[in-house]
Amino acid sequence: MAFKITDACIMCGSCEYECPNEAISEGQDIYLIDPNKCTECVGFFDTQQCAEVCPEAACVSDPDHQETREQLLAKFAKLHPGKKPK
Ligand code: SF4
Repeated sequence: MAFKITDACIMCGSCEYECPNEAISEGQDIYLIDPNKCTECVGFFDTQQCAEVCPEAACVSDPDHQETREQLLAKFAKLHPGKKPK
């Protein structure tokens, strides 16, 4: 499933540049994750990079966007044509 950012976000901006899919952007009150771009870092890393760097533990699984690993890999392939997943 895609990740989301909760209202615990303090807008430090640490996560934005860690996302390999450029799925994170600055919202009005918190940073936002585009579920169409988030692969849970599948294809790039074993752990979610936004969650790794967030000082407030505000990057969490989004139960409204549940996806299998296969679906996340398909999203990766669509976002990065020709690139091999790690
Ligand atoms: Fe980006 Fe990975 Fe966080 Fe998804 S889990 S928003 S791909 S850093």
